[in-house]
Amino acid sequence: MNRFAYLRADDVGAAVRAVAADPSARFIAGGTNLVDLIKENVERPTRIVDITRLPLGEIGPGERGGLRIGALVKNSDLAYHPEVERRYPLLSRAILSGASAQLRNMASTGGNLMQRTRCSYFYDTTTPCNKREPGTGCAALGGFNRMHAILGASEQCIAVNPSDMSVALAALEAVVHVTGPEGDRAIAFAEFHRLPGDAPQLDTNLRQGELITAVELPALGFAEHHAYLKIRDRASYAFALVSVAAALELQGGTVTEARVALGGVAHKPWRDREAEALLVGRRVALEHFQRVADALLQGAVGRGANDFKIELARRAIVRALSHAAGRTSRDDARR
Ligand code: SF4
Repeated sequence: MNRFAYLRADDVGAAVRAVAADPSARFIAGGTNLVDLIKENVERPTRIVDITRLPLGEIGPGERGGLRIGALVKNSDLAYHPEVERRYPLLSRAILSGASAQLRNMASTGGNLMQRTRCSYFYDTTTPCNKREPGTGCAALGGFNRMHAILGASEQCIAVNPSDMSVALAALEAVVHVTGPEGDRAIAFAEFHRLPGDAPQLDTNLRQGELITAVELPALGFAEHHAYLKIRDRASYAFALVSVAAALELQGGTVTEARVALGGVAHKPWRDREAEALLVGRRVALEHFQRVADALLQGAVGRGANDFKIELARRAIVRALSHAAGRTSRDDARR
């Protein structure tokens, strides 16, 4: 392991300055991904800035009736928070489908958004990987790519984002608040993560030194009609082959608002607003859900071992929308 300097930040400004001044410095909170990356020699920070003492651990009212989640709120605390369970059960379900209880007890909200792909070649420093070492190639293109992307990939990288929480946050249209050397800014969730393009080493649109301080949920939480469906190789502690966050607003059986976000299929949570719009003004019906699934997967490309994901995603979208249309908060209470 490489040697690094350890610094514990007392305030947000000090943390930002410490990382902004050193491109190889990293913030650390729960450490559930970064420590693995350091041990595997994938990340070689010269400086680690511990942010766990910063006052970013609260959940409280947000703007315009929403909810503001501090970046250091633990995944478990967020999933079981009464306001989240009542108003944003989609988020709660997504979080609880990820990782293990022990990891959720350590992992932070900001860290969940920053976790890196679980592409096995990314972790194997003996193989070429454009994300780990730009310009070396992509071992997954001609290798074992069963878990890899079917949407939005490039010839540089076909990795997927592993977060479940982020899929729900994409559907809910959360906003990410950050503080950096040039001040504060808010980033719409759709703009937070990146597609790989020709710079797959970049997972997000954060600038050097910017620290996530909070994630804000809008007032609309789709508590009545939602579903998080995760298809994976085993029942727990596994990353998604395909996941779907589906959220509907219904009036008398007619859809007035529809959101569908996909996980496990792209370098970022995948949404297509034109596909979602196909549902608006329609009555709840299987044929409409199938049209949305077809539209969402237009342009999906398999790489051999992951071809099956296209049909899997199609079926998962239809099933999740069916669950969302039928599910009420009373059903959840009976579970
Ligand atoms: Fe690296 Fe991306 Fe290729 Fe995986 S898919 S080997 S992360 S470049």
